[in-house]
Amino acid sequence: MIPVGEKEIRGSFVNCSKGEARRINLPRNLLETPWADLDFLGWLDPGAPDRGYLVVERRGELVGVTLRLSREVRRSYAKSTVCSICVTPHAGTGISLFVAPRVGAAGRQGNTVGTYMCADLACSLYVRDVKKTELGVRFETLGNEERIMRVVVNLESFLDKVFHGDLSPGADPAA
Ligand SMILES: [Zn+2]
Repeated sequence: MIPVGEKEIRGSFVNCSKGEARRINLPRNLLETPWADLDFLGWLDPGAPDRGYLVVERRGELVGVTLRLSREVRRSYAKSTVCSICVTPHAGTGISLFVAPRVGAAGRQGNTVGTYMCADLACSLYVRDVKKTELGVRFETLGNEERIMRVVVNLESFLDKVFHGDLSPGADPAA
């Protein structure tokens, strides 16, 4: 993805208030971000481990989404699970259920969308074999290009759900 700075990142959030967006803890190593290897910027809040964020270009605009780790799920640590975005298999602890408030009034009323994702939100690096999971080598015949396309498509479909129900696109959802 194209490198983005702090101001653009803070201005991109669609499912929280402007005040919240100002207070979000950005990645500590933003300047060292490997932008060329990223389909989206995803990070866990360095100050609040139950929060995560992802920032991605959607239809020509930068879109930031706040995520919370769901506490409702009892994971089985014995079996491996698969990320809904990049389809990378992990041991139980390598996957988290994240929930995102929906954009607009629905989100303010507590309506959320959930997705199982790589717990470190590093899908882009797994599909490029830049990062290995705790399970080691992947056994899949798909090439990296196909895996990257899959991330883009799955992420788009997740974002569609986050935006679904927003009756006023273009209006400031956090006003
Ligand atoms: Zn993933």
